[in-house]
Amino acid sequence: MIDLINVSFSYDNGTTALKDVNLKIDSGEFAFVVGASGAGKSSLLKLLLRENVANSGTVIVNGFNLNKLKRREIPKFRRSIGVVFQDFRLIPTMTVFDNIAFSLRVTDASNKFIRSRVPYVLELMGLTDKVKRFPNELSGGEQQRVALARALVNDPTLLIADEPTGNVDPELSYEILELLREINNCGVTVLMVTHEHDLVRYFGGRTINIENGKVAFDGIIGGQDEREQL
Ligand code: ADP
Repeated sequence: MIDLINVSFSYDNGTTALKDVNLKIDSGEFAFVVGASGAGKSSLLKLLLRENVANSGTVIVNGFNLNKLKRREIPKFRRSIGVVFQDFRLIPTMTVFDNIAFSLRVTDASNKFIRSRVPYVLELMGLTDKVKRFPNELSGGEQQRVALARALVNDPTLLIADEPTGNVDPELSYEILELLREINNCGVTVLMVTHEHDLVRYFGGRTINIENGKVAFDGIIGGQDEREQL
């Protein structure tokens, strides 16, 4: 699913953001990526999304070798990944329906498919009653659920969430995490970057700590919610 082998990456100004990173995430896993500001988390995501290319080492995502990916293969590769961001990135002039339909229209999906698929993902995210709303008529948590619906509409095998709870009320952060876990339970691999240690401690699971461009820790942290169930 994700395989980074001896990966290093430096920006044009000489800043080395990732140093000899080895990381393997299997299909169906849920992993948190944590680390201080400037540690290299965004640089890692940019490599995984093929926005940047490693200077050395191998990056394989969803079976695509990103070092060798041809330009014309990039759209197909990107469609295999759903992405959500801290700032939602919804189009303010479009309704909830059209924000999600847009991701299908760019793939030349038929209107018939769009009319059945969009309501389906909206229902999964509990947003059926918001279909005609515009983003500024929704709370932060609701906007992030729209962004999640949009990320899932192309049926990706991997979901990358970059600080998805950063602009969401703290109590709703847990709701977003529950949704991500449900998505993961449906078989989608989830990689979530966060600086919210409380969330990681509460939910637990595989946690990858990036420090100074290196993987400083990669292991399982026991979650509080699991302990409560015992
Ligand atoms: P994080 O996402 O963990 O905050 P980043 O991946 O953004 O960390 O940054 C890792 C390192 O790369 C930092 O030293 C940062 O200053 C540097 N960096 C990030 N983006 C750029 C860029 N576009 N050009 C040059 N250096 C950058």
